[in-house]
Amino acid sequence: MYLSGDAWHRRGVLREIDIQFMNAGGVLFGVKDYVLALMEYVAKYDATLNFFHTLTAVDGDAKTATFRVAKPDTTATEITTGFDMIHVCPPQRAPAFIRNSPLADAAGWVDVDPATLLHRIHANIWSLGDVMNAPNAKTMAAARKQAPVVADNVIADIAGKPPVSAYDGYGSCPLTVERGKIVLAEFGYGGKVLPSFPKWVIDGTQPSRLAWALKAQALPQIYWNGMLKGREWMAEPDRIDA
Ligand SMILES: Cc1cc2nc3c(=O)[nH]c(=O)nc-3n(C[C@H](O)[C@H](O)[C@H](O)COP(=O)(O)OP(=O)(O)OC[C@H]3O[C@@H](n4cnc5c(N)ncnc54)[C@H](O)[C@@H]3O)c2cc1C
Repeated sequence: MYLSGDAWHRRGVLREIDIQFMNAGGVLFGVKDYVLALMEYVAKYDATLNFFHTLTAVDGDAKTATFRVAKPDTTATEITTGFDMIHVCPPQRAPAFIRNSPLADAAGWVDVDPATLLHRIHANIWSLGDVMNAPNAKTMAAARKQAPVVADNVIADIAGKPPVSAYDGYGSCPLTVERGKIVLAEFGYGGKVLPSFPKWVIDGTQPSRLAWALKAQALPQIYWNGMLKGREWMAEPDRIDA
């Protein structure tokens, strides 16, 4: 939405385009520290926010989308709206072989302790990444912080010790608000802001050119040469006191 708004703004055609943002949830972004910056772009792109709208059907030929609208304390309704272009994000769910396995919780995710990432029932199973149910934002940035936690705890387990490392819920959403600028949301459990950089380098609550450069230029190098090879100096887990 943001990058389309930016492209249309730059081409001077934004005024002729009606941007509608439909969200099944009730907020623009789950951590309020970042909402102010995002709202400035919502205003700039003149996007209309529609919360509690769950997409139930798309008719491609007729170019219509149907939503179930269930605002708190009101009776749910259904609306069908036309579109010229629609961008859809499907609901997240685990693959069937996980959803339908004894590893899953009632919602279908691998059921782990959110700190140690050890399965709540099966004491020889750990999980990480999108597939498990810790209440973090499902991002690669989160998996990157979870990997050393699981590695440490598996090693401790092999040595007959209890878990030694804990995951703090860190996740990161680089919100591409315009070409060349990113609002770098970094936060952990409970929406606690967990910036990787001091404010004077990157203030995550503000759109930043440096954050764009980090994502576009630096992160691919860090990803391929550091993370995937198990060498990443900023992913040190919290220690659990014995
Ligand atoms: C559009 C988009 C943008 C994103 N942008 C960002 C971002 O900017 N920053 C960020 O940090 N995160 C981002 N994410 C999230 C990030 O991609 C995920 O959090 C991350 O990939 C999760 O890694 P994973 O290894 O847990 O799962 P996955 O990457 O989903 O890997 C699971 C793998 O298992 C395979 N698989 C499934 N079933 C089977 C089977 N039966 N047998 C064998 N293999 C199987 C799948 O093919 C897949 O390769 C984005 C996601 C999307 C969709």
